Amino acid sequence: MPDHIDHDDGKIIILEDQTMILINQTMIPLRQRYTIMHELGHYLLGHLGEEPLSRSEKECRSSEEQAADKFAIDMLAPACVLWGLHLRTAKEIAEVCRISMQAATFRAERMQLLYQRQKFLSHPLEKRVYDQFSEFIRLNQK
Ligand SMILES: [Zn+2]
Repeated sequence: MPDHIDHDDGKIIILEDQTMILINQTMIPLRQRYTIMHELGHYLLGHLGEEPLSRSEKECRSSEEQAADKFAIDMLAPACVLWGLHLRTAKEIAEVCRISMQAATFRAERMQLLYQRQKFLSHPLEKRVYDQFSEFIRLNQK
């Protein structure tokens, strides 16, 4: 049963009854933000304290890492907000969301599919996120 998930950039640990995210403070702030969201993703997605059932530990870890990365990107660059700002390129997304070009490139590729689909704000929770960012969207319109 994992009681911690450890990376070079940061880690999340359970110590007695406290869960803590520890961050490598020598990283640039942009990287620290991403790592905090990644580790928070592990926590909120229930990756700590759960025994892998049928998949191997390695497969489980890999899918959990992907899920934590997706969580971080969804939090730092919400699709509906990018849509509201008409952002498409990795460069635009990196600047507005203050994420790395690598993360922004990943997000821009996903946004291409979402723009083709055109189903933004169809889920009530996405509509709530959009509403919460309405002032940000208004202030950052080109
Ligand atoms: Zn991780």
